[in-house]
Amino acid sequence: MGTILGTMALIRRYRVPGMPHLRAHVADLGLACCAVEFVAAVSRGLLVPEPTEDASAAVGPEADQQTVDVLIVSGTLTHALEPALLRVWEGLTQPRAALAFGACTISGGPYWDSYAVAPGIDHAIPVTRYVPGCPPRPEALIEALAGLAESSVTAGKAS
Ligand code: SF4
Repeated sequence: MGTILGTMALIRRYRVPGMPHLRAHVADLGLACCAVEFVAAVSRGLLVPEPTEDASAAVGPEADQQTVDVLIVSGTLTHALEPALLRVWEGLTQPRAALAFGACTISGGPYWDSYAVAPGIDHAIPVTRYVPGCPPRPEALIEALAGLAESSVTAGKAS
C-alpha cells in the first residue's frame, strides 16, 4: 500500500464545473470510507476529471501560477502511511494546499487513540482546510475547494 501511495500515479486533475476561476489541481488520496464521498462528487459531476496520463503534467513547471495543487486526504491515516503521505505532499509544486476531508482525516475519528492511527493528518503535513463530518457530503468538498481556491488565488495564502 505504501508503495502505491508513494507513486505519483494517484495524483489526478479535476475541475469544478461553472467555476473556472476556482479551478484547482487536485490530488486525491483515499484511505477509507470517506473516499466514497469523493467518488460520489466525481460521479455526480461536481468534480470533472481532466485527462492526464502523466501526473507530472498536472504539477509541472508549466502549470498556471494561479492554480493550486490541492491534496485531498479522505479517511484514516495510519502511522505506517505517514511517509507515503509526506512523499505525495512533497511531490506537489507550489502553491499547494492540503484538505482534510472527514473526521478520521482531521482527528483520527473513532480510532484516534489507536496505537496505529495518526490523530489527524496535520501531524504529518500542514492542513489548509478541514471539512468535518462522518462522512461529509460531496457538496461540502466542493464548498471547501471553492473557498480554498478563492482565498489562495486572490490572497496568495496557499503554501
Ligand atoms: S469520518 Fe466516518 S465516513 Fe469518514 S473515514 Fe472516518 S468513519 Fe469513515
